[in-house]
Formats: sequence, structure tokens, C-alpha cells
Amino acid sequence: MIKDITEVLFDEATILGRLDILARKITAEYEGKDLTIVALLNGSVIFMADLLRRIPLPLQVDCLAVSSYHGTQSKGSVTFRQTPVADLSNRHVLVLDDILDTGTTLRTVLDHFAQDKTILSLRSCVLLRKLIAQPRKAEADFIAFDIPDAFVVGYGLDYNERYRNLPLVGVLGPEAIARYAGR
Ligand code: 5GP
Ligand code: MG
Ligand code: MG
Repeated sequence: MIKDITEVLFDEATILGRLDILARKITAEYEGKDLTIVALLNGSVIFMADLLRRIPLPLQVDCLAVSSYHGTQSKGSVTFRQTPVADLSNRHVLVLDDILDTGTTLRTVLDHFAQDKTILSLRSCVLLRKLIAQPRKAEADFIAFDIPDAFVVGYGLDYNERYRNLPLVGVLGPEAIARYAGR
């Protein structure tokens, strides 16, 4: 698996070090507030697990399954594979995602929650933000890392459902992209 990675951007120790800092920021921001973290599946599972354990607040967690990517390209439309069950009334909501690219996913999810007028505040947090030339449809409030415009996998991020379990974030090489194309 690791041999398919042409460049390691962040190893596990680097990621966890950054999550310590991010978690302190989030903790300071939400101290004394009723916080619900909504993690977008499947990409943010590992990020969610490592980040949540660093936030010493009595928060609640929920997950929402969405998908917008096909292979290495954004489809431009977002599918909700399930709707959240938790009651978010009178709660501060922080949406977690693995990576912010065009912002289509985050925009769709934020618009969905913005319809609920009983939510006290709505913000977002991503592990990675891709530096792209075009304007984005949504921005994130908390960001762990900025990365170049390359297709990355690992630490929850997949290529056709593979590589989520790599304990690092890296650029996937062309051979692996060809090998697992469409399967
Ligand atoms: P957006 O909707 O912002 O264009 O894309 C966000 C979603 O696309 C992310 O939640 C992620 O699932 C997927 N995505 C975007 N860029 C990458 C990437 O470089 N690698 C992987 N594995 N997924 C990506
Ligand atoms: Mg995702
Ligand atoms: Mg994906």
C-alpha cells in the first residue's frame, strides 16, 4: 500500500501534533456551550476519532453519510446516504470533513443544517484544505493543514474505497490510480 504513495505529505506524528493544537482551539471556542459534532462519513472517521479524544468537553457526536467523489474527480453533486437522527435544537453544531476541495460537499451540508432555525451556531472543520485556483462554494472555520492541488489518500481518505487505513496523508501515484480505476 505504502509503495503506491509517491509523496508523503504528513505522517501520523505530524497529524496528531496538529490535532493537539486544533483541539485546543475548538475547546476554547466551545467551552460552556452545548456542542454537537457532525462528522461526514466515510472520509472523516479517523480524523473524527483522533480529534474528539483531544476535546475534553461534554460534547455529542453524530455522523452523516454523504458522497460527492467518483474516483479522483468531484461529481459536482452531493448524495445524502442517510439523514441525521440527533436533535440539534439549542445546540452549537460543528461539521467535520476530511478535505475541502471545491466546497460542494460542505456547502450542501451547511445549507441543509441552516434550514434548522433551532440550531444556535453552525461552523465547520476540515483536516485538509486543497489550494485550488477557482473560488470555493464554502470555506471552513477550522483547518488542520493546507495542501497542494493533488489527489491524496490515507488517514480516512480513499481512492475507490481503498487506502483509508494508511496512517498518513500522501499523494497517490498514477499506477495505483490506473490499477484500481472503477473497482
Ligand atoms: P468537494 O465537495 O469540496 O469538492 O470535495 C470534498 C469531498 O471530496 C471530500 O469530502 C472528499 O471525500 C473528496 N475529495 C476531495 N479531494 C480529495 C482528495 O484529494 N482525495 C480524496 N481521497 N478525496 C477527496
Ligand atoms: Mg468526504
Ligand atoms: Mg471518497
